[in-house]
Amino acid sequence: MASPTTDDKQRPAKRVAVVGAGVSGLAAAYKLKVHGLNVTVFEADGRAGGKLRSISQDGLIWDEGANTMTESEADVSSLLDDLGLRDKQQFPISQHKRYIVRNGKPVLIPSNPIALIQSSFLSTQSKFQILLEPILWKKNTSDPQESVGGFFQRHFGKEVVDYLIDPVIAGTNAADPESLSMRHAFPELWDLERKFGSIISGAVQSMLTSKSGKKSPSNSKCRRGSFSFFGGMQTLTNALCKEVGQDELNLQSKVLEMSYSCDDVSKIGNWSIYCGQDENQQPFDAVIMTAPLGNVKEMKITKRGNPFLLNFIPEVSYMPVAVIISAFKKENVKRPLEGFGVLVPAKEQENGLKTLGTLFSSMMFPDRAPEDLYLYTTFIGGSRNQQLAKASRDELKQIVTSDLRQLLGVEGDPNFLTHYYWSKAFPLYGRNYGSVIEAIQKMENELPGYFYAGNHKGGISVGKAISSGCKAAESVISYLDHKLKDEC
Ligand SMILES: Cc1cc2nc3c(=O)[nH]c(=O)nc-3n(C[C@H](O)[C@H](O)[C@H](O)COP(=O)(O)OP(=O)(O)OC[C@H]3O[C@@H](n4cnc5c(N)ncnc54)[C@H](O)[C@@H]3O)c2cc1C
Repeated sequence: MASPTTDDKQRPAKRVAVVGAGVSGLAAAYKLKVHGLNVTVFEADGRAGGKLRSISQDGLIWDEGANTMTESEADVSSLLDDLGLRDKQQFPISQHKRYIVRNGKPVLIPSNPIALIQSSFLSTQSKFQILLEPILWKKNTSDPQESVGGFFQRHFGKEVVDYLIDPVIAGTNAADPESLSMRHAFPELWDLERKFGSIISGAVQSMLTSKSGKKSPSNSKCRRGSFSFFGGMQTLTNALCKEVGQDELNLQSKVLEMSYSCDDVSKIGNWSIYCGQDENQQPFDAVIMTAPLGNVKEMKITKRGNPFLLNFIPEVSYMPVAVIISAFKKENVKRPLEGFGVLVPAKEQENGLKTLGTLFSSMMFPDRAPEDLYLYTTFIGGSRNQQLAKASRDELKQIVTSDLRQLLGVEGDPNFLTHYYWSKAFPLYGRNYGSVIEAIQKMENELPGYFYAGNHKGGISVGKAISSGCKAAESVISYLDHKLKDEC
């Protein structure tokens, strides 16, 4: 990213509004501020961080939103370096030990494809189907909106979908393989098929090409694996808030209206933001919108005095999730498992299990609970069981205790239990998601100086949200550098 020139420094800094103080908005605001721009963040909630929400209480530390992230995006690596957060990164113990339930019991998932073929996790028929995928895979001839389930079934068969893809999708998107669009949820794999046909041949060839190619500086820095931070994920957004500055962060400032106007003489366009309070804000040269699209649809936007109707934005489906934090005395957990956590395939509901999965929080991060307790983070709801996500605390407690009794041998009631309900935990990248992307593009094309970032665009992980915020900041910088005078 270019730094401001001496010439720029003499002029008053341009002003940019960022709507939403989740990780994407804060990453964008930070990048803009480092570039020398004047930034104001508007956040509807009384706290910053969005879906990153860490709590510390009674010797326990837990996350009610995202629990870990990865560094697969180069923007994440730079951000961690720039914020000086390397010594605060916390890597889970035995993170590669992950379990999936089969026949009512947690089974360790083989950590690589060769181990998977050697294990008894899948039937012999499925293992043959995987080995022969380079020749046996079937072409998708009819469905451009193919589901994740349909795609993987064509390549690897139904058992792989039921026992590997389904639990992973539930654990990462709270969705199910049938309602998720392959093209939008996994664009890299979708493209791999278009290029190579077979996923296995494509993956091997891509690996060989990237090994023989030169490593870029950002690639060489990318460390694989999940991690959190000491104190939880919110350590990241707290660090961003500190850099952006308290004065630039307006909490409890829900953006209701935005209006773009343009001075015919100076040809300079400006945005005004209305939150139902403090309407004397100075105008802004550009806006980065990171509020969920469902919230954007409720906003009133005017362009040069005329209403800019947002009725072209399609309905986005959101997955509701309850996150239940429980702690049990170690002596009351008869079959504790070391590792990251356990995922429950939808099929295992037949064996009485109702949760989507549980993270072994204090196994991963021992400093998050006193020595005599195990801390667990369990997820309920998603597309599998939308109603259950908003069940009462007592009902959730009963479900979690029952599932953990079956999976880990817990006895009695938890010593501690709390929960958080997200009515809109994840946007569903469903089969019609192309129309969502088109609506975002239409706003960006037709509203000068308006850029959209966040987990509705390019992926739902924390890393992708950060990357999306950083890219929007770069677009704003380039817009302000080159285009402002022509846009009016
Ligand atoms: C329970 C749960 C577990 C997850 N686990 C993981 C995980 O382990 N790893 C991972 O990588 N990802 C995980 N995710 C996903 C990831 O956390 C999110 O996709 C990401 O944090 C989204 O960031 P964002 O900035 O795009 O959106 P958000 O965090 O949703 O931020 C948007 C902000 O905009 C604000 N806002 C909304 N409307 C307005 C308005 N009108 N005016 C002003 N502000 C407004 C909101 O209050 C919010 O703070 C999880 C998500 C959830 C819910």
